[in-house]
Amino acid sequence: MKIYKFGGASVKDADGIKNISKILKSDNTQDIVIVISAMGKTTNMLESVVNDYTSAQTVSLDEVKSYHFEILDQLFEKSHSIYDTVSNLFVEIEWAIEDSPTSTYGFEYDQIVSVGELLSTSIISAYLNQEGVVNNWLDARDLIRTDNTHRNARIDWKETLYNIEQNINTNGRFLTQGFIGCTSENFSTTLGREGSDFSAAIFAYALNAEEVVIWKDVEGVLNADPRFFEDAKLLNQLSFSEAIELAYYGAKVIHPKTIQPLKEKKIPLRVKSFLSPQQAGTTISENVEMIPFLPSFILKQNQILLNISATDLSFIVEDHLSFIFSVFSKIGVAINMMQNSAVSFSVCVDNDIQKVPGLIKILNEHFKVVSQESLSLCTIRHYNKEDIKKVIGSKTVVLEQKTKQTIQVIY
Ligand code: ADP
Ligand code: ASP
Ligand code: MG
Repeated sequence: MKIYKFGGASVKDADGIKNISKILKSDNTQDIVIVISAMGKTTNMLESVVNDYTSAQTVSLDEVKSYHFEILDQLFEKSHSIYDTVSNLFVEIEWAIEDSPTSTYGFEYDQIVSVGELLSTSIISAYLNQEGVVNNWLDARDLIRTDNTHRNARIDWKETLYNIEQNINTNGRFLTQGFIGCTSENFSTTLGREGSDFSAAIFAYALNAEEVVIWKDVEGVLNADPRFFEDAKLLNQLSFSEAIELAYYGAKVIHPKTIQPLKEKKIPLRVKSFLSPQQAGTTISENVEMIPFLPSFILKQNQILLNISATDLSFIVEDHLSFIFSVFSKIGVAINMMQNSAVSFSVCVDNDIQKVPGLIKILNEHFKVVSQESLSLCTIRHYNKEDIKKVIGSKTVVLEQKTKQTIQVIY
């Protein structure tokens, strides 16, 4: 069994969907689970719907509807039953937003945003069947069981493995959603933004797949994000451990949770371009050398640095740290870099306007907090002096941290 994962960029329009059909026809893999994200920017559009709904503003589904129906018009005859399927999925959202919100933001978010993946997979499954690429559509909510940590649900591995074994127990082509799951009470959950890569890894783990292929709009894993570094180069081969490090420091190309399940079962991961599928891309597997051996650059913009010190100028000790970490964990703010000194503790995080102001407010009740915004954090793996100079240029470094393999610089 193989697992293919197609992300939002690969299915952003009718041509993208036709291209998937071409890829599947040309490699003619019969035993496969195809995991697909919401089309294009659908998740962002649905997030806006949720934001409007939960803040009692006028909610409109027009944009997300017209986007999907325009794609349908390019792929199907008007009489095709997919039009009803898609209309019914929109009715599900309309029902969800009919009354005022009754539950938490996260709960409402998951019930609405998860529809993006149901829309894309219903459309793509119908198109592939029409093209003779016969496939069984599966509702991932019958397979991926999670807890109710909405927007970042944790997998119940035991239930999930059982469900997948029960439902995918024959040869064939299966098509399902990334990113979504379901609680034991039958409420939809999501696994965190960009979580479809992780879904692919879950299916691979459960089915002892021979490989996972993640199809992207880039040649494979590069040594930097080509949007920020114009001379980014393809890495042909990487070890799981190196890939975990890159994802951990924020290389956007693979979701950080993806690698561990694959590493555990030694299932190779290939990252390939859906624009040039004949190229080999990047292969990530156990204990292989990095080829070519190059420094990797990971840039995070829009960072905020918080300098936290005790109001009575005392030392920052374990009690303080334990309290500080509990606040970060409660509000769900991930720490990108931290540094401790005798009298202060510095933390660099994404400047998320939904979360950071609330975080600072709580910290301010107990500590003195000085913040510095509009910063960038660059992590360089396998760095040398030249690389650091190239990244920093004439900018002022605010904080720096080094290990043998990795340097992190905030500027
Ligand atoms: P998906 O369509 O699966 O959601 P994403 O847009 O999330 O794909 O990921 C692909 C993008 O990741 C690329 O277009 C590229 O800009 C970015 N990216 C960031 N870091 C890297 C890297 N090290 N190698 C390749 N691409 C990267
Ligand atoms: N559609 C979701 C997102 O945009 C999940 C994914 O694409 O991986 O975050
Ligand atoms: Mg994505």
